[in-house]
Amino acid sequence: MHPHLKYLIELQAVDFRLIEIRERLSKFPKRLAEVEARVTSAKQQITAAKDALLTAQKERKTYEMDVEQWKERAKKYRNQSGEVKTNEAYKALLHEIQNAEDEAAKAEDRLLERMVSGEEFDRQLKAAEAAVKEVEAQANKERHTIQAEYNAAQKELAAAEAARAAAVASVPEDLVDHYERIAKRHGGVGLAEIRGEGCGQCGVHIRPHMIQLLQRDGNEEFYHCETCTRILYYPDHSVSPAAPPAPSAPDSSAASSPKI
Ligand SMILES: [Zn+2]
Repeated sequence: MHPHLKYLIELQAVDFRLIEIRERLSKFPKRLAEVEARVTSAKQQITAAKDALLTAQKERKTYEMDVEQWKERAKKYRNQSGEVKTNEAYKALLHEIQNAEDEAAKAEDRLLERMVSGEEFDRQLKAAEAAVKEVEAQANKERHTIQAEYNAAQKELAAAEAARAAAVASVPEDLVDHYERIAKRHGGVGLAEIRGEGCGQCGVHIRPHMIQLLQRDGNEEFYHCETCTRILYYPDHSVSPAAPPAPSAPDSSAASSPKI
């Protein structure tokens, strides 16, 4: 194995950790947004219930006035009944009185309906207000949990970044550049171990001759996968192997940590 390869393997292990931590960190804003959306939605229920209640109250006033007006009109017609001269006029007046009383009764029905639905909207408003309190309490707990997890992840990130700086210090600068150029193109993974007879990253078959070269003691060459161009290595039990890549490793452009 090339003498510097074991440091690169350590570097790759740290980079796998960094990929995983940054992936985790990138999900925090969405998790927080989901909590806030639940609170907003619950608050909208209050607004809707308040609007419905207000409309019901306005309509109630209108119907109360309708009842008053029709009753007033019936009373006015009844007062006129002493002044009519003809039978025809009297009949017509009776008809008007009946009509006004019917309209007053209808308006009273509408009013009663409105009062009942107003009570229902009042209940809905109180229910919505209670729901918001519950959602807020739950949201506070979740915000707290998310923030604590976020802080912990930030600490892990700082530790992994420090570990990376230490790992980089053991590798010649031009080799770090070479590794990083490859890693940048391949989701942060610049090394590939040999698995069976293939590249552990892209799976392409590796010629047995190359595997023999990689296994040879005193080998000081780097060999690359012909397909994915990653630096190949043969797993050596004297160093800890790099962890397998995360299933959805982000590329290096997603490597910046989010602010929440
Ligand atoms: Zn490959």
